[in-house]
Amino acid sequence: MKSTDGGPAELLSAEYGINGALSRLGGEGDNYLVTTPDGEQYVLKLCVEGQTSELLELEHLAIEALARDLDDVALPRTVLTRRGSVEAARTVDGIALRGRLLRFVDGTAWCEAGPATSGRRRDAGRCLARVTSALAGVEHPAARRSHRWDLTAAETQRVHVALVDDATRRRVLEQAYLLFVAGALPRLDALPHSLIHGDLNDENMLVADEHVVGLLDLGDCLYNPTICELAIALSYLLLDEPDPLEAGAEIVAAYHEQSPLSAAELEVLFPLICGRLAASVSIAAERHRTHPEREAWFVTEARAWAALERYTRIDPLTAADTLAGGTGVTVFEDRAASRENVLERRRRHLPSALSLTYREPVKFARGSRQFLFDELERPHLDLYNNVCHVGHCHPRVVEAGTRQMRRLNTNTRYLYDQLVEYGERLCALLPARLERCFVVNSGTEANELALRLARAHTGSREMLVVDGAYHGHTTTMVDLSPYKFMGPGGSGRAEDWVHVVPIPDGYRGKFKGQGRDAGVAYGDEVGRIISSLKRPLAGFITESLPSCGGQIVPPDGYLETAFNHVRAGGGICIADEVQVGFGRVGEKFWGFELQDVIPDVVVLGKPIGNGHPLAAVITTNEIAESFSGTGMEFFSTFGGNPVSCAIGTAVLDVLRDERLQENALRVGTRLREGLRGLMARHPLIGDVRGVGLFLGIELVRDRATLEPATEEAARVIDELRRRGILTGTDGPHRNVIKIKGPLVLTESDADMAVRVIDDVLSGLEAD
Ligand code: PMP
Repeated sequence: MKSTDGGPAELLSAEYGINGALSRLGGEGDNYLVTTPDGEQYVLKLCVEGQTSELLELEHLAIEALARDLDDVALPRTVLTRRGSVEAARTVDGIALRGRLLRFVDGTAWCEAGPATSGRRRDAGRCLARVTSALAGVEHPAARRSHRWDLTAAETQRVHVALVDDATRRRVLEQAYLLFVAGALPRLDALPHSLIHGDLNDENMLVADEHVVGLLDLGDCLYNPTICELAIALSYLLLDEPDPLEAGAEIVAAYHEQSPLSAAELEVLFPLICGRLAASVSIAAERHRTHPEREAWFVTEARAWAALERYTRIDPLTAADTLAGGTGVTVFEDRAASRENVLERRRRHLPSALSLTYREPVKFARGSRQFLFDELERPHLDLYNNVCHVGHCHPRVVEAGTRQMRRLNTNTRYLYDQLVEYGERLCALLPARLERCFVVNSGTEANELALRLARAHTGSREMLVVDGAYHGHTTTMVDLSPYKFMGPGGSGRAEDWVHVVPIPDGYRGKFKGQGRDAGVAYGDEVGRIISSLKRPLAGFITESLPSCGGQIVPPDGYLETAFNHVRAGGGICIADEVQVGFGRVGEKFWGFELQDVIPDVVVLGKPIGNGHPLAAVITTNEIAESFSGTGMEFFSTFGGNPVSCAIGTAVLDVLRDERLQENALRVGTRLREGLRGLMARHPLIGDVRGVGLFLGIELVRDRATLEPATEEAARVIDELRRRGILTGTDGPHRNVIKIKGPLVLTESDADMAVRVIDDVLSGLEAD
């Protein structure tokens, strides 16, 4: 709503019978200081768009509640209109004006009062706690709102990181948002909520000597996690402190004495402070573009940046310890040993063949959703782990497992509900002819079983496998995995029953760049190799989309052509869906569905138990009968036990209820397109490919020769790790950055990943 020059004065005189001099105040709203001839002062606040009568009523109720409980603190009490109303309204020159009049509260703001003393900090803590108690009783429907400064919605400002010109600052800001999004946001719902002032910053708190004597501006009040009040205040009150967290501890301790805080509230405090400061500088970055002349809007900016730079150098565990130091509450119980300690002990007692990712290995202490936290509570966005499919430590999965563990755990030689229920659920997700389900403990074991099925059904031994493929770590599976026998430590093909077919790579390889023709051509290669076999074929094993082979999406027509050749050659077709199944590819639930084929055996693993050792083989009735017909019992001590089945069932429930396949498609597509957008700027990116959340970024030194940028890829993933993003490399040249994180990744995570990868590549190119 626009005001005319004379409008506010007319509103004032008509509604309040007050005449005085008006001068416009700084700050965000359309506010005027009114001085009457006899020296009385008021603030006239005109309503901004969206500021409903209900909101004015809420603000009034909040001020009155504070006035009742904080009788020693000056407050901008409402002056009622001559009609006795909180809200004034008048049409002046055809323009409808609405507003309200508040008593002017004079005093020295915290930010003007010079260095804070310990006494003042403690008084601020007590005062904040009293605000909490006073507002706790206020209920009004209008309080259930959000606005741009709502701390719980700070993530909406995250996109503005891109507007920050300085690369170091962007890095700091990304780190602050990551801490907020991972360390605070998911925990807020479970914390106590109440009406909060929402903006007790260093301008809105008036002080005299050691005391808080006035509080201003309830325009942002809203229903929020109660801890946000303290977090917002701390974000600003500590800006000029030489030792901000120690100073913050005094405020927190005084607050806690008056209004006790839980460990959970204290644990989110630092991430919330970082989130508030991040939102503040992001909003400033945006406003520099839209309203560069509004100096009052940038008063905090430089100090907020300085605070963020400082806070992001502190690990979140130390920060939480410091802030909670005076409360006597233990934060982050169950501490993990230091990284160095574990590294050293691991070297002593575990084989070095157990490799560690990253040049500086990272240690994790806990996981939640798409985040892993190291032993210092530093969050990492997991773009890599395809096992924690529905999110790390998903509470429904954890609960299903623990509940079943308390009740019954036995083996398949007895009858129990969980195995049949789970078998039914899995089969129902697959094409009708795949109707027999074996439950085992690992992908390797499942592939071993698939091989036995193929041999039992055909009576033959010969197997086809795709170049670069990995199917497991047992002797036989290593023999059937070119990734292993041709890779480091491998000594080439050891078994004459193993026959390697080319990887259907549309970017490199024999038929690159030929579209659907490439699919058929690669498929015909399978036929060519089958016709060269001297003994009859047992089967063909392939991942529906080769992953270790470099995140390959086979060209259309590949599996159909290959499967036709295999079946004509008397073999069966095994789809290893260990990495790509369960909705990851987005458009379909299974990878093979993208190619419109139905395998004879489907192998499931990794995501199936969200981290619990579980795998399955599903096949046709005929193949299962051929296997049973040998007369040999199939028994796995742990395979298909009730606990595993309960966990597997919970994973399926969560996938369905949280619509994670859809999410994989939406987030994955956004991420892929964002990454493709970087290709114009970064010649190092040769190809961005994938479907859903199965993505690969192939780095090359030369887009014409496709010379693999192996060393660069290793540097990129190391640098991404340092910035809190987990990825990995793979492919025969280890130059493909793999992205295959949990299906709970969000669009905001995707955007952040694109921005950070952009920055990391720029850094690498500048070196
Ligand atoms: N198949 C594929 C495609 C895999 O990626 C893996 C594991 N990386 C396996 C099988 C073996 O699974 P596990 O490690 O559970 O034995």
